[in-house]
Amino acid sequence: MPDVRNCKRCGRIFNYIGGQPICHACREKEEADFRRVKEYLYENPGATLSEVSSALDISVEQIKHYLREGRLEIVGNERNLILECERCGKSITTGRYCNECAKELEKGLKATAREMSKKLSDSEDEKRSAVWLRYVTKYGDEKRKP
Ligand SMILES: [Zn+2]
Ligand SMILES: [Zn+2]
Repeated sequence: MPDVRNCKRCGRIFNYIGGQPICHACREKEEADFRRVKEYLYENPGATLSEVSSALDISVEQIKHYLREGRLEIVGNERNLILECERCGKSITTGRYCNECAKELEKGLKATAREMSKKLSDSEDEKRSAVWLRYVTKYGDEKRKP
């Protein structure tokens, strides 16, 4: 019996085959959008999140999703990072966890309550520059011709 679900994106019913709960059409669209983001960042290195979003008509949430997947990363000023480590809340540039947490999770250490509540109160210079994005080259499937 097929695993039928509602697509998280468009709400249509589809046969779930694993991964994200989105239908084939939305998955295709997502891939196409990602390629557009990648192209845009190639043409406009250092474009900000909102620039990419408005230029390509792709939601900020969607771009964040690519960041979470580790396909894009934020470069530039750290104060404006929009991703947080899912474990400790520290600002990160790509993926789901900061380096420390990723290491700990790899080691299979149990997260203690004390560690979880330890908040980093960073008193770095408050700079207000834009969030920059770049695509992560290891995910660059097709090579660009010069
Ligand atoms: Zn869909
Ligand atoms: Zn962390």
